[in-house]
Amino acid sequence: KAKNVKGYAPICLGLEDFYVRRLYLRIQDCFGRPIASAPDSWFDVVERISNDNNKTLQRTSHTTRCLNLGSYNYLGFAAADEYCTPRAIESLKKYSASTCSVRVDGGTTKLHAELEELVARFVGKPAAILFGMGYVTNSAIIPCLIGKGGLIISDSLNHNSIVNGARGSGATVRVFQHNSPAHLEEVLREQIAGGQPRTHRPWKKIIVIVEGIYSMEGELCKLPEIIAVCKKYKAYTYLDEAHSIGAVGQSGRGVCELLGVDPADVDIMMGTFTKSFGSCGGYIAASKDIIQHLKHTCPAHLYATSMSPPAVQQVISAIKVILGEDGSNRGAQKLAHIRENSNFFRSELKKMGFEVLGDNDSPVMPIMLYNPAKIPAFSRECLRQKVAVVTVAFPATPLLLARARICISASHTREDLVTALDVISRVGDLVGIKYFPAEPPKI
Ligand code: PMP
Repeated sequence: KAKNVKGYAPICLGLEDFYVRRLYLRIQDCFGRPIASAPDSWFDVVERISNDNNKTLQRTSHTTRCLNLGSYNYLGFAAADEYCTPRAIESLKKYSASTCSVRVDGGTTKLHAELEELVARFVGKPAAILFGMGYVTNSAIIPCLIGKGGLIISDSLNHNSIVNGARGSGATVRVFQHNSPAHLEEVLREQIAGGQPRTHRPWKKIIVIVEGIYSMEGELCKLPEIIAVCKKYKAYTYLDEAHSIGAVGQSGRGVCELLGVDPADVDIMMGTFTKSFGSCGGYIAASKDIIQHLKHTCPAHLYATSMSPPAVQQVISAIKVILGEDGSNRGAQKLAHIRENSNFFRSELKKMGFEVLGDNDSPVMPIMLYNPAKIPAFSRECLRQKVAVVTVAFPATPLLLARARICISASHTREDLVTALDVISRVGDLVGIKYFPAEPPKI
């Protein structure tokens, strides 16, 4: 198949089917018309098994039940849970799966109002607003916060939803080097002074956008330093906590708690419910004025059907468990467990000689493969040995920085992790991705 596509064959050859199909999706002629389309769907259909803490998934095409190291199910709430599930079922019976209404016209149930209050309390901001999808939260909110005449300064590795929101806003967009407060300052200085007297400030408003944990890097944001720069140049901060809220911090309150940042110093806090809370949807938490402004102006609030009530109830219950308001200490245990699991897995991988990105405490750990041609061997061999990993390549990463991205969950047991490490080590030897000498075992 690949040979038929002029110019692309050398890249495609030797790659796994799904990757070839992914490249197909992107092949267009000079008028932007597709000249090659993907044959069928290019993803595996999986069965999720939720009665075993959702550690496993079954790939129907391979009929293999495997240990799931790819899901964002950080706290294990995307599973049958003794506190969350019965309440979600009750809310389904009471409210049905959908309100079939927009928030302003009959789509706001008591649950929506309760979750907005709870989210604001949880993240430490005065108010919050919900959206049906995390992606839309970024892509629809950013244009409501800033427009023509404004300046967005965005981390170079920010998520696509942020990139789309920034592009759609009409504001000028500048990018700073990933997680570099020094480069952020350079960009700000240039944009504010711009070779003119230092008092010159040509922008109506400046927003700096960063993520709490970078989803392809597993790295924590240098938030204290970034906030210091923003304060110095009077820029607003926008923090996407999709991967950090619920997953890090002593009580799960994300990177602010982990890094000792006062939430009052972050102007706009964004997060999703699709990871630590095992649900769907997203939120913005900010000052009452900003939230009121969004409630009155954001099309995704005014014209979109509100979040599904059972999904709302799931988040309410999960936050209550995290806060210990369910009357148990399961939340604290889950948080301790994800931290221990993440730090154990990361340090063991490093000892084996893998190049692992990211920081301690982060449950996201990319193992570098570099050459995209290593993807099929790595993922297939892991799968054959019953470990499901997500591999990421172009266009989500630069072409030669392919990686396997492991996501650790509080629901993984030590036994699961030891099994997975064993498999990954063997496959790593086979594929040749141990770039450092292994640490000799301690006697
Ligand atoms: N922001 C970041 C940083 C993300 O990684 C993602 C998706 N993983 C989103 C936003 C979009 O969230 P959702 O999947 O909940 O729509």
